[in-house]
Formats: sequence, structure tokens, C-alpha cells
Amino acid sequence: MVNENPQDLPHPPWPETGQSLTALIDAQREVARLSAREQLFNALLVSVNAVLWAFDWETRRVLYVSPAYERLFGRSAGLLLADVQQWRDSVYPDDLEHAERSLAQVLEKGAVEDREYRIVTADGQVRWLRDKCFLNRLAEPGQPVMVVGIAEDITDRKRLETELQHLATTDALTRSSNRRHFFECASREFQQARQQGSSLAFLLLDIDNFKRINDSYGHQLGDLVLQQLAECGRAALRRADLFGRIGGEEFAAVFPGCTPQMARHVAERLQREIQHLRFNHQGQTFGITVSQGLTLLSADDECLDALYSRADAAMYEAKRQGKNRIICG
Ligand code: GH3
Ligand code: MG
Ligand code: MG
Repeated sequence: MVNENPQDLPHPPWPETGQSLTALIDAQREVARLSAREQLFNALLVSVNAVLWAFDWETRRVLYVSPAYERLFGRSAGLLLADVQQWRDSVYPDDLEHAERSLAQVLEKGAVEDREYRIVTADGQVRWLRDKCFLNRLAEPGQPVMVVGIAEDITDRKRLETELQHLATTDALTRSSNRRHFFECASREFQQARQQGSSLAFLLLDIDNFKRINDSYGHQLGDLVLQQLAECGRAALRRADLFGRIGGEEFAAVFPGCTPQMARHVAERLQREIQHLRFNHQGQTFGITVSQGLTLLSADDECLDALYSRADAAMYEAKRQGKNRIICG
């Protein structure tokens, strides 16, 4: 069906000798009508920024692909029609299993509306596609099963979703997880540790006399202190650890699978790194200290709040004992 030429259409029925001229004119009009229709469809298919395709399930051959394929994939439609492997080669490797499995599901369900996968274009760009697939409903019983689809480029929407997700989960000043996201992730880690019977440590950290820093050096320098501290926190933790800003000058961390010694060691390292930070205000250099409350998951803890409360109490005890210290609770 690809790029059918009007010449390839079946010849109009030729009137036999004696048949009226009207029949010939009617036939010619019909050819002209079909040809105009085909031009219209071709113009539509060229303009639509989505790839329409048809696939013969039995012979595993692509029967048709609309002109947008070459634009979107940057690959030759002719090669795809010759060998469906061309399509497999263009699917992002991590997404190939899902893309193939969801195509097979069309046979069971009659349609798959939300098939999303990435492709790699010929010039190496990764693009997201939303590919709605349907069984060809016009097929007569006994005819080959044909799957048809419309694949739309949703790369921009996906990028926007990622940006929105980032904005919704990140604290704008320090680029750490925000309070809501931190506690969501921490709750998941808590549940997992409970189910697996593994260890988990919870740490709270509060900057000492931060109000005085703001008052003495200005809010802007206070912001810089928060940013540098968050940087320190990220650098001191392992990949699986969580770190977030849960209040003005208050941060929290979760260490999954951490022994008490390891957790204490990380908190001490953090304490040292933060003490080594230096800030400048009009030629005057100053440093900061923090108070930390550390606690470990125990068998009685039924929710994350239990750990949070203990860490909070331990942190306030650290303040009470003179600040700049770690208390385990
Ligand atoms: P403590 O040693 O007992 O923790 O005392 P503190 O001064 O650190 O604590 P306090 O709760 O009295 O003050 C916290 C200050 O943090 C008050 C608030 O103005 C400041 N703060 C909160 N959010 C921000 C922020 O985003 N930027 C800056 N620069 N300051 C902030
Ligand atoms: Mg404070
Ligand atoms: Mg505080």
C-alpha cells in the first residue's frame, strides 16, 4: 500500500462496443474521484506528525508505514518494509522487551492504548513514542491478522514530565530532596527493611546558631551555608542512602542496611566535613557546626515516625548538651 501510484490502481471497466458513452464518462469520473481522494489521504499522512503503520502478525512483515516514519526515525521506510528487524534495531535496548510484549498483547486485548517506549534515531537521538495499537477490525474471518497502530512523538511531553517531577520532589535552594519526597522515600525504605529484617539508620541534622549567621552575615550568605551543607551531605553518603532538607536549616538522612558502627561513622564524617567548611563575609572567615540525632530501626518500630521521634529527641539532647555533637537515641 506504500505510496501507491494512481497508475497502479485497477483499470476502470472499459465499455464494450455499443455501451453508452455515459458509462465511459462515469468510469473516468470515478477514477478521477479515487485519485483525488488518494492525493488527499497522502497529503494528510504527510502532514500528520505521527507514524501510521500496519503489521501482518502471521508473516511478521510491516505492510505499511506512513511518511512520518522517515522523519521521526530518520530511517528508510523501504528497509523497514523489507525487514521488521529494522524496527527492533531502532528501539532503545532497555525498552525492547516491553515494546514487543505489548505488541503481542494486542492479540489478547484487541487494543493497547498506552504503549510507550524509546527509540534511537539514525543520528543517535533518543525519542519517546506513544504507540496505540489495534487489531484490524475490518478483517474478514479467516483473513490474516493485521495489527495497525499510530505512533506519536511524545519526547517533549516526557521532558516536561521529568522537569515537573524534579520540581515537585526537589528543594529549589539546596537541590536536595524536599521534605515530602524525602519522607515518601524514607517510608518505602522503612517498609522494605521491616519486611526483609534488614537494618536501617535514621539521622537528623540541624545547624547550630543558624539564626545568628543570618543576622550577622545576611540571609544570602545563610543560603550559601545551606547549599554547601547539602553538598557535603550528598558527598558523604553512599548511593543507596537518602538525604533531604526537611525544614529551614534541618536535614535528614536514611542509611538502609547500615550497621550501628557504619551509621555512627558516616555521622562523624559528616560532622568533620561540615566543620571544615569555610565562608567569607567582607574579609572575615567563619565556619559552622551541626547537632545530630542518630537512631536505628528496632523490632518495636511500627512506623517511620517512631524513628523520626527518637532521632529528634536525640538531636535536641545534642543541643541541650552544648551543640556540635552527635547523640544516639
Ligand atoms: P539552634 O542552634 O538551637 O538550632 O538555633 P538556630 O538559630 O539554628 O535555630 P532557629 O530555629 O532559632 O533559627 C533557624 C533560622 O533559620 C531561622 C530562619 O530565619 C532561618 N532560615 C530558615 N530557612 C532559611 C532559608 O531558606 N535561608 C536562610 N538564609 N535562612 C533560613
Ligand atoms: Mg538550628
Ligand atoms: Mg532548626
